[in-house]
Amino acid sequence: MIAVLRLGHRPFRDKRITTHVALVSRAFGADEIYIDTKDEGIERTLTSLSQRFGGSFKVQTGVNALNIVKNWSGVVVHLTMYGETLSKAVDAIKKEAPRDLLVIVGAEKVPPQYYELSDWNISVGTQPHSEVAALAVFLDRMTNGSWQEKQFNGEMTIIPSRQGKQVASNVGSNGER
Ligand code: SAM
Repeated sequence: MIAVLRLGHRPFRDKRITTHVALVSRAFGADEIYIDTKDEGIERTLTSLSQRFGGSFKVQTGVNALNIVKNWSGVVVHLTMYGETLSKAVDAIKKEAPRDLLVIVGAEKVPPQYYELSDWNISVGTQPHSEVAALAVFLDRMTNGSWQEKQFNGEMTIIPSRQGKQVASNVGSNGER
C-alpha cells in the first residue's frame, strides 16, 4: 500500500498544484492521499474523477499530519532536494521486506520534525524543482513502472491511439458496467 502525505497546502494558493499531486498519486500507483489542510474542493474533484475513470483512490483532507507520520507502521519517505540519492535509497528500500509506504511532499518550507521522523529523506536530483515531478519520478522508480499496467475499470477507458482520441464507454444503456 502506498499513501502520499501533502504538507503545507494553502487552499487559495496551492489548489491547482495540490490537485496535481493528488492526480499523480492516483495515476502513478498510490492508494490514497492525505492533505493537511481541509479542502472540500479537492475532495470533490478527485471523487468525481474516480467515478469517471475508476479505481478506489481515497482522499482525506484536514488531517493531523504529524500523527499520521508518528503512527505509520511502514516506511516513511520524505522527498526533499537535501535527501539521499534516489537510486541508492530506492534500491535499499526494495531490499527490505515489503511494507506500506508513506511518501511526504511539501509545499513551502517543511518543518524539521518531518526530516527527523522520516526513515528516508530522498532527493530526486539535488536541484530544487517541483513536488509533482519529484513524486512522479519517485513512484515510477519505486513501482518499477508497474503503475502503467494498473486497471482502473472506470465508466470510461482511454484507448491509446497514435492519432486522435479514442475512449470506450464501459457503461451499458441501462447504466450498468
Ligand atoms: N524551499 C522548500 C524547502 O526548503 O523544502 C522547497 C519547496 S518545493 C517547491 C516543494 C516540494 O517539492 C518540497 O517540499 C519537496 O517535497 C519537493 N521537491 C522539490 N525539489 C525536489 C528534489 N530535488 N527532490 C525531491 N523533492 C523535491
